[in-house]
Amino acid sequence: MAKNRRWSKLSWWLVVGAAPALGEPAPAVCAVARAERVDAISTIALRAVDLPSRLDGVVARAAALWNEAPCAAPERPRFVIGQGDRTLDVRWIEGTAASGAGVCAAFSGRVIRLFSFARDRAGALRRCAEGERLAETLAHELGHALGLYDQRSAACSDRMMGQLAQRADGSLAPRRIHAEECLAVAARFLTDSERLARASRDEPAIAALGSGPWSAAATP
Ligand SMILES: [Zn+2]
Repeated sequence: MAKNRRWSKLSWWLVVGAAPALGEPAPAVCAVARAERVDAISTIALRAVDLPSRLDGVVARAAALWNEAPCAAPERPRFVIGQGDRTLDVRWIEGTAASGAGVCAAFSGRVIRLFSFARDRAGALRRCAEGERLAETLAHELGHALGLYDQRSAACSDRMMGQLAQRADGSLAPRRIHAEECLAVAARFLTDSERLARASRDEPAIAALGSGPWSAAATP
């Protein structure tokens, strides 16, 4: 189904310029999540597939970025290694994405793919980042799994769902999870009181995340 093939793409060549200077007003919106509400998921298990031993621990570090974010909310599911209410595969691909320049990671269905190489716009091979930058890349894809969309404004470049931005010294600025991203995710998941209220009104159950094809990878 064509809809399921709309991968999210993280592109290291998508350099959108330096982050805004301190003191500039914050943009009104730097976090947008899918509108559908989600029920009955408290844990999402991550399963590493074909991940080389040199990358041991990267999945746990990406999970920790969300689980230990200062803005973590009880209404938001936690990522776990092992058994969970739903499972996402994190699959290492020794090679490049089938299409798209600069694609080092993609989320489709219930699989996050991490690629060792990407082609730049000229067709040359570039090695994708590893280490902490890879954990951040994976955390960005986990944000898509939680329902967040990419944020392409330069003003959002330090958010986890922002695009990569180059600092004055030429290095890439790190991205981290901001409170508004936590709030946007938490708003998708029913709280206990909302669940009870729906039950008392005898409303039909909300389809749980993952009961159909995951389509959170849609990018604006
Ligand atoms: Zn993305």
